[in-house]
Amino acid sequence: MNIAFVGLGIMGSPMAAHLVRAGFTVVGYDVSAERLAALAAIGGKTASGVAEAVAGADVAITMLPDSPQVEEVAFGEDGLLAHAKPGLLYIDASTIKPETSRKVAQEAAARDVGVLDAPVSGGERGAVDGTLSIMVGGRAEDFQAAREILGHLGTTIVHVGPHGAGQTVKAANQLVVGGIYGLVAEAIVLLEASGVDPGPGMDVLAGGLAGSRILDLKRQSMIKREFAPGFRIDLHHKDMGIAVAAAREAGVSLPLTGLVAQLVAAAKAQGHGSLDHSALLKVIERINS
Ligand code: NAD
Repeated sequence: MNIAFVGLGIMGSPMAAHLVRAGFTVVGYDVSAERLAALAAIGGKTASGVAEAVAGADVAITMLPDSPQVEEVAFGEDGLLAHAKPGLLYIDASTIKPETSRKVAQEAAARDVGVLDAPVSGGERGAVDGTLSIMVGGRAEDFQAAREILGHLGTTIVHVGPHGAGQTVKAANQLVVGGIYGLVAEAIVLLEASGVDPGPGMDVLAGGLAGSRILDLKRQSMIKREFAPGFRIDLHHKDMGIAVAAAREAGVSLPLTGLVAQLVAAAKAQGHGSLDHSALLKVIERINS
């Protein structure tokens, strides 16, 4: 099976690597030459554009930053839909607005291309380990067709509803993740301001009811103030915007989500957009200094 893979960044690169190792023919494209070279080094093929990557593909996967890039890649003159063969299955793993996913699915249907929105959670670690959670929106038959490929990328793979539903579930995921980071940051600030060593203090939290994957994976790096991404503040800011807009669309009030969105916006405004989202700690520290 031939797989086109567009967007070989922090997440896309290890995801494409799993598919190469699983024996698929993977033809990758990224605007960054460095990213393309990394795919070639592990046995993937590289293309000079989206059209070339998609030519002859049975499945296309995109892992792009945001809605504008997905629209460019999907709808462009030299883009995915213009060059897809009929019957192609297009899996968009990017985190984007639910309405963009629905628009892509609608345009694709006219060209006999099946589409799934399949955003992921689990971070860079989950992508490298192949243990992502994948929330899939779209038709049941397309989900079944994608199941084997997604099984090489993740361990929790759930069909959550029609086109766009995967993105709505991802928005819910991101508001929970953002909220937990904010509270972990506050716990560290409290312990340090009280003269309590946050190392053993946070170890106890991780073993109790407050325990979470974020505490497991990030408490030590946060205490050491190591904020290399990971998942960039800029991308989490985008996701909080999606969550706030989804709440408005659904006619519900999510007060904590609103607050977390503002804290993430502050992190970006303070110049931390390219740091990991655990750098929310810098915002809580700044409030207190
Ligand atoms: P990234 O910026 O590292 O990767 C995006 C890649 O897309 C880059 O290599 C960039 O060069 C490429 N790109 C941009 N525009 C392009 C175009 N028009 N054509 C071809 N390539 C293009 O971002 P990432 O962290 O890998 O995130 C990708 C998506 O996954 C985002 O939607 C993000 O919200 C989501 N996500 C990220 C994480 C994480 O921990 N990093 C976790 C879950 C979901």
